[in-house]
Amino acid sequence: MEKIVIIGAGVAGVNAATKLVDKGYPGDHITIIDMGNDPYKRKPEEVMTGFLGAGGWSDGKLTYHTAIGGHMSKYCGEEKAMELFNEVITNFKRFHPKPEEVQCSNPEAEPDFIKPYFGLRLFPVWHVGTDYLHEIGKNWYDYLCDKGVNFIWNHKVEQLNFTDQLAFYAHNHPESKGIRAIAYDRLIFGVGKSGIDFGKQLAEKYSFPTEPKPVQIGVRFEAPQKHFQKLIDVSYDFKLYRKFDDEGVSLRSFCTNNNAAFVAVEETYGNHSYNGHAKKDEAYRNNMTNFGILMEIQGIDKPFDWSRELVSKVQENSTGLYYSPSRPPSQTSEGDNVSATSITSKQMDEVVKPAFHGYFKYIEDFIEDMKKVFPTLQHDWGIYIPEVKYLSPEPLVDYDTLALADFNNVHFVGDALSARGITVSGAQGTYVAEYIIHCHDEELFGHLEEGNYIGGLTMPKEKNKYWKSL
Ligand SMILES: Cc1cc2nc3c(=O)[nH]c(=O)nc-3n(C[C@H](O)[C@H](O)[C@H](O)COP(=O)(O)OP(=O)(O)OC[C@H]3O[C@@H](n4cnc5c(N)ncnc54)[C@H](O)[C@@H]3O)c2cc1C
Repeated sequence: MEKIVIIGAGVAGVNAATKLVDKGYPGDHITIIDMGNDPYKRKPEEVMTGFLGAGGWSDGKLTYHTAIGGHMSKYCGEEKAMELFNEVITNFKRFHPKPEEVQCSNPEAEPDFIKPYFGLRLFPVWHVGTDYLHEIGKNWYDYLCDKGVNFIWNHKVEQLNFTDQLAFYAHNHPESKGIRAIAYDRLIFGVGKSGIDFGKQLAEKYSFPTEPKPVQIGVRFEAPQKHFQKLIDVSYDFKLYRKFDDEGVSLRSFCTNNNAAFVAVEETYGNHSYNGHAKKDEAYRNNMTNFGILMEIQGIDKPFDWSRELVSKVQENSTGLYYSPSRPPSQTSEGDNVSATSITSKQMDEVVKPAFHGYFKYIEDFIEDMKKVFPTLQHDWGIYIPEVKYLSPEPLVDYDTLALADFNNVHFVGDALSARGITVSGAQGTYVAEYIIHCHDEELFGHLEEGNYIGGLTMPKEKNKYWKSL
């Protein structure tokens, strides 16, 4: 049986490990290395690292549509993608202390009042809630530990040698010295957004061919929920969108949080950008709504460098910016002020608009049109600048295995590949795990007669048709 090393205990890595052990793969052959903490030790400020990764401290909105949250169907087709999404959602419910509280919003028709200014993307979304995610994380972690999966916490993988099949990792503590190596037969690379630099370094070191990517940048918009209630009643995580095909720009509202909604700071490359999350517990209710207004801009040369430069220009006092015609910045769920430097409209003109290279006008228009659609809004809003989705240079992978062309035992999954959300990241991890199980079909199932059981599994009828049997 192969020794599998998973880098990143994020949504992708955890779903991969779960699928493997669920299907009888021995847990003691799986090692997960993460630079963050286990779910019992993870602190609220550790937004991006630790068990379930960014997904573990997110808003826990599980989208169920192939057009949302990154790419899955391009690898495996629509039907398989939906099946995998379903499996990820089922895992979140399976480890949920109160699965009956997971709610689904499934809008069926675009409401007339948003036309003609916006379109509304319609898709089902399950809402788990940040506070439950922590409990889910603990239950899920206990399950994997019980199955024998090895975890190495607080260690960062610093280098990979694909030729010798070695991962080199070191303790996070600044004074700790010494680097350790772990050998693998198969590697799952699921470092998420917090490991984007590492992915980029590897792409350069091994000259991976990559797929071209657009820029995704904008702001996190925040306002009292009452202004948007009419739309929230139709769709909890509403996705307003508009497209300017001739200019290569499209905009969408992204990751809407309501009821107990908080703006979250993300730190990438030493700069601050913004995101949001919502708590489920009524005790946290602040009756606010926040969402990203994200632009996707095609045709930018070196989109990654362009985005990074923009983000670095909209920082002041070592944090991002906040602008509002009327409101002070709000507080985090822990009662601290959201880290942001407040700026005036003059600074908007002098700093923000030039940094956005003229593209900020699309965001201004979006806000202006929201005021028409939601007339009570007027000046009662604020924006945290910037919100950014660094789409890592996507390595070209084999679509059946998500493995690199030159190293077929190295699989890229989650945000490190082409995902941008929980369900797609988990689905990519699960997809790779299915492939690995297929490779071990003989070892896992070969000695069994049809109808025999191993670890709760039935011997598949046609071993080669593994997609059907798993
Ligand atoms: C505040 C916030 C809210 C969000 N809300 C939602 C939402 O509601 N719905 C949704 O679908 N998506 C949401 N997202 C996005 C979603 O969380 C991610 O798309 C998803 O978690 C990606 O999964 P992943 O496994 O690829 O990476 P992650 O879940 O980010 O996990 C990556 C893991 O790798 C570890 N790691 C990174 N580099 C190394 C290294 N070198 N060595 C060791 N370990 C390493 C990190 O510690 C981390 O634990 C949100 C993100 C944020 C930040």
